[in-house]
Amino acid sequence: MTPAMNPSADPAGIYLDYQASTPVDPKVVESMLRWWRPSAVGNPHSHEHVHGWRAAQAVDTARGQVADLIGSDAQDIIFTSGATESNNLAILGVVRGRAAERRTVITLASEHSSVLGPAFALREEGFRCIALPVDSEGFIRRDAFLETLTEDVSLVSVAAANNEIGTLQDLPWIADQCHALGVLLHADGAQALTAKRLSLSAWGVDLASLSAHKSYGPQGVGALFVAPGVAREIHPICFGGGQQLSLRPGTLPTALCVGFGEACAILSAVGAAERERTQLLRDQLIDRLLSAIAGATLNGSRTIRHPGNINMQLPCDDARDVIQRLQPRVALSSGSACHSGSDQPSHVLKAIGLTSTEARSSIRLGLGRFTTHNEVAGVVDDVVKALVEIDRHPVASQA
Ligand code: PMP
Repeated sequence: MTPAMNPSADPAGIYLDYQASTPVDPKVVESMLRWWRPSAVGNPHSHEHVHGWRAAQAVDTARGQVADLIGSDAQDIIFTSGATESNNLAILGVVRGRAAERRTVITLASEHSSVLGPAFALREEGFRCIALPVDSEGFIRRDAFLETLTEDVSLVSVAAANNEIGTLQDLPWIADQCHALGVLLHADGAQALTAKRLSLSAWGVDLASLSAHKSYGPQGVGALFVAPGVAREIHPICFGGGQQLSLRPGTLPTALCVGFGEACAILSAVGAAERERTQLLRDQLIDRLLSAIAGATLNGSRTIRHPGNINMQLPCDDARDVIQRLQPRVALSSGSACHSGSDQPSHVLKAIGLTSTEARSSIRLGLGRFTTHNEVAGVVDDVVKALVEIDRHPVASQA
């Protein structure tokens, strides 16, 4: 349940939950505004008048901007409502599309629920779904993967960057193994646009899910990258008009597509410098937390992780007590936003070998474009103070 609060109150404070959602860049807001004005009326799929043509042109420009950022071509981009929809379309669509020849789908136990959900749902249709274990830092276990990969596998789905512990998988290596057996590779790239420079086509990735609101764009829009020749292997999961090759019918939201495109153009221009700056801040914050809090440990890899991700075990029984005490000054999380109402310990942290208690005592901090040095310094004191308070005044767990 969301606690009652005044919706008009400015939630000023330190925002460290960039993996849940990034702030929309002001330039992105600016780019979208004109598409919400009455003069910009028009359905981007109306072919018969100038209003439709203008909207279509704006959507096409956005498609090109998304494609440029990931090293692909505009015609390989299908806009969706976000990475959840893209993951569902990729997994259900490809596995059903290749059902006559192949009956197995492989993923990792540490994947986002929008990957595990459709993959497990396919079992009800008679497919085999294997969720492989990962190592203690969240990387694919190469031996186990190679043992499982056979010509019966239609699709392998792995996150380019894990949303809880930031682990960056070696996509070119995984793609090579897949292609040797005619298997397609889908990458959940929801967190990847801010994680590293992507060259999806060169790496051999066949499908990739993207999300605008993890990349300084608006919520409610994303994309599925589909490599040339792969579209014919996908069965649509939604039926309607013939938009977007009939793979994802429905009227595209011009303003949201434009905003996503602008967010990608900004990342193409500043992404490298931004990743370097964010990583420096992240490493400072890790060091400060580890030295200020006896018994704290980092979950996941120290080096091969998203530059804006920290996940740390704290010396407490339930990290939600710490998070609660930091409200409304500091926003951080106990893991995926999609599970933040759940009482279950994180399946990602369990997959890397943490006990339920260790998983429950962990926090995730997400840094990014607007995070400052002062915020990083301030949050350490805040977390230490919260831990001291909990020790003296344990608070009831909020099931
Ligand atoms: N995959 C990953 C790795 C994510 O982090 C998220 C968002 N939490 C999603 C998929 C779903 O993205 P969206 O919110 O765009 O549906």
